[in-house]
Amino acid sequence: MLHTQLQQPPNQLPLILTIDEDDQLLLNSPDAEWYRILKCFPDMKYRQIAADYYNSLYHFNKTRTMDRGERHVNDEDKEQATQRLLFERATMNDSSPIIFKQDSIPPIEEIVTPEQIAPGITPDRIGGKKPKCFFAMFKSFTGASIMGFAPEPENVHALLTSNLSFARVCGFVPKGADSNYWHKYVPSLRKLEQFDQIMTEYGLWSKAKWDHVRENIDNKIIRKENELVGDTTHYHAHSVFKTLKYTDSKGKEKTKSQSKTTKKCQCEDPNTCPHPWELADDGAGTIVKAHNRYIWGHKASILGLPLQGIPLDSVAVSDAATHDGETIYPHVVRLFENMPQVQPWIDTVLYDGAADTQGLKEKFDKDLNIRLRASLNPRRRKSVTINLPRGMEKITPYGNLVCKAGFEMEYKGMRYESEKFIYHAPKDDSGRSVCLGCEHKSICCRLSKKGRVVTVPFSVLPHIDPKDPPMAKRFKAMMTHRPSVERIIKRLKCDLSDDRLKKRGNAAFQAYLDKTMIAFHILLRQ
Ligand SMILES: [Zn+2]
Repeated sequence: MLHTQLQQPPNQLPLILTIDEDDQLLLNSPDAEWYRILKCFPDMKYRQIAADYYNSLYHFNKTRTMDRGERHVNDEDKEQATQRLLFERATMNDSSPIIFKQDSIPPIEEIVTPEQIAPGITPDRIGGKKPKCFFAMFKSFTGASIMGFAPEPENVHALLTSNLSFARVCGFVPKGADSNYWHKYVPSLRKLEQFDQIMTEYGLWSKAKWDHVRENIDNKIIRKENELVGDTTHYHAHSVFKTLKYTDSKGKEKTKSQSKTTKKCQCEDPNTCPHPWELADDGAGTIVKAHNRYIWGHKASILGLPLQGIPLDSVAVSDAATHDGETIYPHVVRLFENMPQVQPWIDTVLYDGAADTQGLKEKFDKDLNIRLRASLNPRRRKSVTINLPRGMEKITPYGNLVCKAGFEMEYKGMRYESEKFIYHAPKDDSGRSVCLGCEHKSICCRLSKKGRVVTVPFSVLPHIDPKDPPMAKRFKAMMTHRPSVERIIKRLKCDLSDDRLKKRGNAAFQAYLDKTMIAFHILLRQ
């Protein structure tokens, strides 16, 4: 058996760490991918984010112990605050950003540099005790996600205290009965919560997320594609809602669901204290699903590469009640701002029918020189059945033309000058036109030897863009790439986390999405 002597904790006998046979078995087990990933984790590549963390921790400790002196008088009562918060939501206020924006982070003093730290080597006395190792904490959260648990402090703590191999491979020493603090011991739940809070508030989960995506692009693990695919998905909120009444700009009384109005301070009487009223779960809203199903939740917008099935970004939508079509444009802009190397790849964005509006397509074209291809949204249009060419029964809102004998005509193209779509009758298995033996031939195409040819004026289908009609093979072929986003969402939401949130507010939700994305992009390298 192999023994390794570790750095000696204060006032303690030398500690012996056993390299268990279990750990060796895990390293070779095909079922313990998480173990190999954490064991071979290239920590030294991430020393910058580690230094950022220690500096943020120092800033956090310093500002939390100071009297912040922001005791401005606040005479707003709870009812007024509730209405103010309602009218600040992105679905009520055009000037509120549609997708999540990190609160601005104050300038942070650089006390720790990347060169001073390494796994197990933490800075001395950052305002008190030696801090827990960034790398060990970071690996604990990422490891939880890779193992399929939601990357939240409770789960991480449960894993670290129940799975000794997990604790060791992350870089911790199991605590046992000793109650003294030592920075190498498995951290308390409180310490894990604080780590998560600092990583969230100082935008470090997001920074780490972009670092991992960028690394995979630089190393060609992510290859160039010309299309982006987008969609939104919901997560169940960890909060309750109240239904509010309000008066809209036309003087009409309306209702809307909103999370409770609360104060985050611990003051004895929140009704008189000077701290601001806030939403208990900002970002949560009512999401309308098909068949009039309503979900109280948070909404994320996902963008990815359809052929490889890789998510490039996942962002919290500021107000979950936002209509899907509104999120895609600001999200693509955000992606290009953070990953400018991706912008020249992309000439097409694929989306569902929620983005099928002329205005949005023009905006993509004009601002980004990108074609937005959305599934056709017929918006309550019905099939056209009158004033059709002879022999024809109906034309659907999707441009599918069906004849009186029940055959679907094949779309062949268009005549742009005469503004008409062209369809041909299909052929049977032997290659003959179905018209040749058809009982309707005499009224439909009496003299034709090759079968019916039909033209339909553009004006019959005014909602279809003649330059990119959904009946065309090219359109259909490209739209077959769109469902790939469903698989991306399933991996992020089910395999690497959980769709039931355990925290409130969009900052925590964004951190949750980022942690999941980090795990995805680490797994991508395996
Ligand atoms: Zn207060």
